[in-house]
Amino acid sequence: MQDIQTLLNRSLPTPVEQIYAPLLAERGIQLFIKRDDLIHPEVSGNKWRKLKYNLAEAQRLHLDTILTFGGAWSNHIAATAAACRLAGMKSIGIIRGEELDEEDNPTLRKAKENGMCLEFVSRENYRRKNETDFMWSLQQRFGEFYSVPEGGANAHGVKGCAEILNEVKEHYDVICAPCGTGATIAGMLSVLKPNQMLLGFPALKNAAFLENEIHRLAGGKKELMNNCRIMPGYHFGGYARHTPELLRFTKDFAEHHRLELDFVYTGKMLFGIFDLIRKDFFRQGTKVLAIHTGGLQGNTGIFKTLRKP
Ligand SMILES: *Cc1c(COP(=O)(O)O)cnc(C)c1O
Repeated sequence: MQDIQTLLNRSLPTPVEQIYAPLLAERGIQLFIKRDDLIHPEVSGNKWRKLKYNLAEAQRLHLDTILTFGGAWSNHIAATAAACRLAGMKSIGIIRGEELDEEDNPTLRKAKENGMCLEFVSRENYRRKNETDFMWSLQQRFGEFYSVPEGGANAHGVKGCAEILNEVKEHYDVICAPCGTGATIAGMLSVLKPNQMLLGFPALKNAAFLENEIHRLAGGKKELMNNCRIMPGYHFGGYARHTPELLRFTKDFAEHHRLELDFVYTGKMLFGIFDLIRKDFFRQGTKVLAIHTGGLQGNTGIFKTLRKP
């Protein structure tokens, strides 16, 4: 097996860049972005953070196949396929939705090119993905594998995400990240300093589960949650939904700051941060660090869909 860890560690620590904008100067807020999107073109952002110790664990157990789960536009599926290819491992993706045509979907097409074996299951069966007998039937079909949960959200994933903040030597008052499963927030929460605040911006409409889930993933320490807040107002209609306002923001941001965002996660988070600044949510003098969690592979797919009549 090739040493993917050494390969991708070369791009760590990821750089931190300051963002300049009239609103920030006016309100006395300093905004910085940690560029985890630069980790690797295909294994980008928090997806590598979450896969890192999962792949190491599979290798430790001498398992050369990773099986994981995701939707058709999943950054996690794309990243797992690419990472396994780089590591010289096999990958199996259990994809939600039977009706999908992978030729029509750039994420799945690319995953397949990276050697991933795609297995489509009904939404009903997909919901059973954590049940023992479903897992057993997958084992019957595919043989031995190391299974990674949807979004890489397990203890190994959380451990990798703690490194995002461990790499940061400067002090920031507020750390921001988008959330899906909450694993990234949970990892950073586990190493947050007492005088820091962590804000999570859910990409999903139904984010009620997140606080409990983050709490569980972070190891169940109650007092940790005191420094964490979920900001549910910036989902723009739900997962992968968008509005003209969000698209305009994302496009303007890319033009003004020469920094591409995806609008499933990072676009919504940055929209939220600017909105909160406008509403004086942060005290003057606050230093904010936003994590660019990557996910730019998804833009190809969405922009293609948008062009359709
Ligand atoms: C998957 C993903 C997230 C969500 O991370 P969680 O750890 O599941 O909360 C955030 N941003 C991007 C770009 C992602 O691809």
